[in-house]
Amino acid sequence: MECNPLAVVVLRSDGSVVDCNPAFEQLFGYSRDEVILRQLDELIVPEEERERAEQLTARAKDGEEVHTELCRIHKEGHYIDVALHAVEVRVDGAHSGIFTIYEDISDRKRTADALKQSDLRSRTLFEHVSDPIFIFDKANNYFLDCNSAVQRIYGYTREELQEMTPYDLHPPEDYVKVHENIAVANVDTPNTYVHLAKDGRRMDVEILSDDIQWGGRLAWISIVRDITERNRAEAELRGAKADAEDATAAKSGFLANMSHEIRTPMNAIMGMTDLTLDTKLDSEQRDYLQTARDASESLLALIDDILDFSKIEAGKLELEILDFSLRDTVENAVKTLAIRAQEKDLELAVDVPDSVVGDPERLRQIIVNLVGNAIKFTEVGEIEVSTKLDVLESAEVALRFTVRDTGVGIEEEKLASIFESFSQADVSTTRQYGGTGLGLAISSQLADRMGGRMWVESTFGEGSSFHFIARFGMQENPVETS
Ligand code: ADP
Repeated sequence: MECNPLAVVVLRSDGSVVDCNPAFEQLFGYSRDEVILRQLDELIVPEEERERAEQLTARAKDGEEVHTELCRIHKEGHYIDVALHAVEVRVDGAHSGIFTIYEDISDRKRTADALKQSDLRSRTLFEHVSDPIFIFDKANNYFLDCNSAVQRIYGYTREELQEMTPYDLHPPEDYVKVHENIAVANVDTPNTYVHLAKDGRRMDVEILSDDIQWGGRLAWISIVRDITERNRAEAELRGAKADAEDATAAKSGFLANMSHEIRTPMNAIMGMTDLTLDTKLDSEQRDYLQTARDASESLLALIDDILDFSKIEAGKLELEILDFSLRDTVENAVKTLAIRAQEKDLELAVDVPDSVVGDPERLRQIIVNLVGNAIKFTEVGEIEVSTKLDVLESAEVALRFTVRDTGVGIEEEKLASIFESFSQADVSTTRQYGGTGLGLAISSQLADRMGGRMWVESTFGEGSSFHFIARFGMQENPVETS
């Protein structure tokens, strides 16, 4: 008794304690002296268990071996789950008492309860996940279980499914693929299949599978996602994108034609205005005609922009490949704008290297646009055009151009959009400064076509630096430069 790790207590037939061991003292919190001669049931049996305790004592007294699990109270008042084993003690054939062993099963019960809770949680999750989940037996492929999404989406009851295997969900033409993959775990990349619902409806599905222990059996778990709707939406989107691309191409083609049609009469108007300006006119007539001439020039510039833009959009813009002097081109481009800079008392400085192969006219167009913008948006200070050799490859140079101004600058949140067509940093600015919002769209696309890109850095109120990289070939026989 002294060494027994289980709590042992010996009772007289009237239920009073004869003796107990240290494990008993430990389990119930009473010392040996506190229990000896006391009615044990009064100490450790909770009120609600009294009747049952009496029945058990009666059974033990009748000579029955009692093994059961029940609840007892510790001296400090808390409940203890115990397993009880009781046998009658007989002396000379006569009943003399009961020998009882208590085993503390609180931990075991707690673990079992926790397990039950966790099982319940998993089951709840399993049931309520919106994707269908199938469990089928590894040994014979028959379904063992499924969640309610299966019943909702496929229309089969759990009982019906238990008579089926995964093959019954696939059209016959997919059996080979199913056969190849049925015993392959794929938890990362889903396999795609066609599944059939009970009513014959076809669904596009993605399936992830893994092995799992299910009710003591080795099984596969397949988690299915119905992607029919997603596939349909994607197909629709692809169609819509193709339509939109067709429409854009058509629009660009139309614009290109239109611009051409408008240029012809415009040239006539400008030519005729020039001719008339060369004749004898009074000052009022000259004034009117000069205004008409200036207006048609702006109009032509606008039409040129639209034509360029639609050519680029339609993918019809071809770049020239000519030997040219980079310095001359840049300087000439800037020169055309020098008067405007001078009028505003802005300093215009240019610093570029020389002798490359590429399309000088398109490069001029970019520079004219950037420097033109710089002058337009700058009231005081300076505009600087500079270049830097960015990367040097065997027969190619990548030049980085920077047009820096000390003008109005661009607000941070507008920076990304100004390269889009018809986009201007500010509507009121537009009114103040005029323009179409096409210049940067064209220039940045030209820079793209020249194997580079365009970007801007700007501090609102302080000025902007427009950078672009363009690639040029190297001249074998460099041109003479002035
Ligand atoms: P446009 O000048 O014809 O409006 P752009 O495409 O050339 O069209 O420019 C788009 C917008 O970008 C301009 O309306 C202006 O708001 C802004 N922007 C361009 N260059 C500058 C600059 N140097 N300084 C400040 N804002 C600029």
